[in-house]
Amino acid sequence: MSDNEIHQGGCACGENRYETTGNPERARVCHCRYCQLRSGSPFGVGAWFKEENVKHHSQNYNQYKFVTESGNTFETNFCKKCGTSVYWTISAPALKGLTAIAAATFDPPSFWFGVSGEIFTRSKAPYIDIKCEEQFETSPTYNPTKKDEDRFDGSK
Ligand SMILES: [Zn+2]
Ligand SMILES: [Zn+2]
Repeated sequence: MSDNEIHQGGCACGENRYETTGNPERARVCHCRYCQLRSGSPFGVGAWFKEENVKHHSQNYNQYKFVTESGNTFETNFCKKCGTSVYWTISAPALKGLTAIAAATFDPPSFWFGVSGEIFTRSKAPYIDIKCEEQFETSPTYNPTKKDEDRFDGSK
């Protein structure tokens, strides 16, 4: 995979399309409650790109913003028409200047990059068996500053 390869993707209805340049800076499988609720699926995979490496051809999104238990703003974008969760940002210092693309929204072959690990395995579904290098109970930079409502509590 060359470093400046272009990949395209978008939502289910085709209203929102994007393209990315190069490989993601990081990509992990995330079992956190926020990803579970964002996607309705047991885990999410975020492919984090530098903002300048993501071009949005349209921006017809609804945005949902909330403050995480670490005090960061999580800003997530859903297609206004079909509801696909396409991309998000988190205001954590480690993620500055990066945008996460919901990995399964790439056009086929959708899974052209690898994932380096799993995070938030504390709320991982028992029937999920993923092979990757690193596993974290939470995340390497986990530093909660508040207690979430029960429905977000992945420690149970
Ligand atoms: Zn759509
Ligand atoms: Zn997550």
